[in-house]
Amino acid sequence: MCVLRNTCVFCSFARMPREAGAYTRTLDEVFAEAEAARDNPTREFHIVGGLHPKLRLSYYLDMFRGLTARHPGVHIKALTAVEVAHLARLERMSVRDVLVAMRQAGVTSLPGGGAEVFSPAARATIADKKLSGEEWLGVHREAHRLGIPSNCTMLYGHVETLADRVDHLLALRALQDETGGFLTYIPLAYHPDHNELGEALGRTGTATTGFDDLKNIAVGRLVLDNVPHVKTHWPMVTPFISQVALTFGCDDLEGTVVFERVYHEAGAGTPMWLSYDQIVSLIRGAGKEPVERDSLYRTVRTFEDWVPTDPGREPGVPGVRPEGPEGPTFEISHRPRARARGQRTLPVLEGIESAE
Ligand code: SF4
Repeated sequence: MCVLRNTCVFCSFARMPREAGAYTRTLDEVFAEAEAARDNPTREFHIVGGLHPKLRLSYYLDMFRGLTARHPGVHIKALTAVEVAHLARLERMSVRDVLVAMRQAGVTSLPGGGAEVFSPAARATIADKKLSGEEWLGVHREAHRLGIPSNCTMLYGHVETLADRVDHLLALRALQDETGGFLTYIPLAYHPDHNELGEALGRTGTATTGFDDLKNIAVGRLVLDNVPHVKTHWPMVTPFISQVALTFGCDDLEGTVVFERVYHEAGAGTPMWLSYDQIVSLIRGAGKEPVERDSLYRTVRTFEDWVPTDPGREPGVPGVRPEGPEGPTFEISHRPRARARGQRTLPVLEGIESAE
């Protein structure tokens, strides 16, 4: 559920409160989902959602405390800059105080979502009510000053120009020069299914090409030479493009994931999860040596003696589950209407096209 559902026209995930498919998880449901991943080697809970009209900061803090108590060894990477700024507004608190409370409740880093592309013109078309690029950078600056590391992204392949991409990367680079707080850069490929922008542009399926995906990795690696890592997100670009990306500047491959809704709602045809064995094989197949890391990029495990999972291992014996979890919460139901009821026409598509 997200209050910006009518204005982030590239998003297929958000629902208005009474729209089909809208849901709000109780904390018990969140804890049950986390429990479902317990017998896999879970290192991180990556928690993001929409801008909920009613949920207060206390709901999220109780969630982080509850997860930390139940899974003390698992890092919590939670809430995009957009969500942090939304909670600060809702609670009439400063962004800094919200971040301090999140850290005290167990959050160890911030994800990089919500940056989209900073260009005001592109933002006016795809996300005109979302916080500005400057505000997004401001939340991350504040997190870095508090010693909370974070990640950065760029959503490409929609209405942005090549100049917009470069300006976006330069803005990330400037903040990194100032704070040094970004751990990794993740280029995110736009997916046009089940969202209003895709409908307006007449696109379906995959909006970017493998060539563009790899170019964004390589250029990102070159421009952001002050960011330690570049990650390829296989749910968006496919496991095979991610495998090739390991020789285009990426040193980080998205993990097993387990439960991803945002891009699968937008038509990503990739699996919901990959097994441990598949990840190790993809990396080895690219001629690289896999190393498992935690959220803060500290080495957790190396694989010199790796033996692929024995699917017949006895229940309860520590190991790696070869299959992903199943159940109603792990199923995707696409929203029936890309366009919100009473929605306006997109503002400046023509302007963007003529700028190309
Ligand atoms: S992109 Fe994020 S903020 Fe925008 S509608 Fe989707 S969930 Fe909400």
